[in-house]
Parts: sequence; structure tokens; C-alpha cells
Amino acid sequence: MKRWITFDLDGTLMQNPFSGWIFPELEEIVSAELKSSHAFKRQLMDEHERLLSEEQIVAAYDWDEICGRLIRELGINRTVDILEMVNRHSVAPKIFLLDDTVLPTLERLKKNGYSLAAVTNGFYKYQYPVMKKLGLTDWLDEIVTPDRVGCSKPDVRMADGLLRDGKIAAHVGDRLDHDMIFARGLEVPGVLIHRGLPPSMMSLSPKERACCPELEPVLHELAANEKQREVFASLTEKFRPAYVIGELQELLECLDSSEDTP
Ligand SMILES: [Mg+2]
Repeated sequence: MKRWITFDLDGTLMQNPFSGWIFPELEEIVSAELKSSHAFKRQLMDEHERLLSEEQIVAAYDWDEICGRLIRELGINRTVDILEMVNRHSVAPKIFLLDDTVLPTLERLKKNGYSLAAVTNGFYKYQYPVMKKLGLTDWLDEIVTPDRVGCSKPDVRMADGLLRDGKIAAHVGDRLDHDMIFARGLEVPGVLIHRGLPPSMMSLSPKERACCPELEPVLHELAANEKQREVFASLTEKFRPAYVIGELQELLECLDSSEDTP
């Protein structure tokens, strides 16, 4: 019986090249074709947000489809190859791990007998080249993506393949709407990673942080960024993490304490 720990990728373990490099390049291409400055990056993000708000989460991460469609709608007669751009921009310092403890922590967890899986809403073809370059593929046993399983977080069916031969000890992620709700649905501890916690929270344990008053503005800011209108009324239980960490190595504290309380 495997003991899985599942990880979100973007904003949790790694920075991908989309917002910093691929979207700006696409904006340059579109502006050159139109012979005038066009806010194509904004248009891509608006379309991504629209699909997310309509719960078309798999389609929201299909950048070849979104980009091709928007380009056609602008009357531009050319194609773009997003995968070629991912491969070309997947070099340091354009892509990076989000803290220095990421790889050592994954290594430690493997030594402690855990099986590790990425559970991401990004498509496999876009995520794998970045993960490979950053050394993440050396430590991950499985990579679960919407194009491979036909659904996306927070749909708990994303974990079906992992649960066939094991149980999940925790899910680690940076989003309330995708990651914390996913963990709630699976009835496993949700570990919220947020680099930039208020200094007053740093001396608390990951468990204490999850129920301290200083966390409330952090959760509301995350929810506002994720456009969770529900949160403006009240922050319901399904958004709440069981643990809050500021860098990945603090995950080790969460697992020790949760295994102590069966
Ligand atoms: Mg994320």
C-alpha cells in the first residue's frame, strides 16, 4: 500500500515560463501582425479566467486551442507553436524552483517511504519539459494532468489512479479553489503553501497558522485573486487549509503531526 503525497506544480513547486516569457512573446507576434500594439496577454488571461469561472477548467489550460482561436478571431492568418515556445523558454533563470528546500524535501520524503505525485491542471506536454529541466521528474513517481485523466482539480476523480494502490497522506498547493477544495473532497489534510506569510505567523507551527487570526487576510487575498465571490460573503470550511507552510521543508512537520493522530 503506497503512501502518496500529492503536489500542485505552478505556484507550489515551480515557476513556469508562460507569464514571463511565452505570453509576452505571443503579444509581440500579434502586435506585429496587426501592425499596432495589442494587449494580447490580457486577452489570453481574460479568456483563461472566463473558462475557469464557467468551470471549463480543462479547456482553460489548453493554451494551443485558446491562442489559436483568439488569433483567428483577430483575423491573423498564422499559427503559433506553444510547445516549441515551452521548450525554448525552459531554461534558467526563466524557469525556477520556488524555494531552495524543494528538491531536498522531495528527496527526504522519498527516503521516508512516501510516493510522490504531481497533480496539476496544466497539460502534460507543457509541464513535463519544465519539470524535467528543474529536476522534479527525478523525484516524482506520477504526473497527473487533465489531458491524461479527463478532469481537473478540484474534481477528486483526478486522484482515482493514485488511490487504486494507496492512500493520500496530504495534498500541497497554493490555491484555495483548486487545491484546498481538492484536499477537502478527498478528506486528506490540505497543506497551503504561501511564500510571504506575515512575519507574525512565522514562529507558529503549520497547524497553529491554519487557525490563527492573521491567516484571515491572507485567505481573503488569495480568494480575491482567484475570483471566489463566495468568499466575500464568508470563508466557508471547504477553502480552509489544515496546515500553512512558508517553504516546502515545513511540510515535514505537517506529516509528523498528522501521523501521530490517526
Ligand atoms: Mg498552483
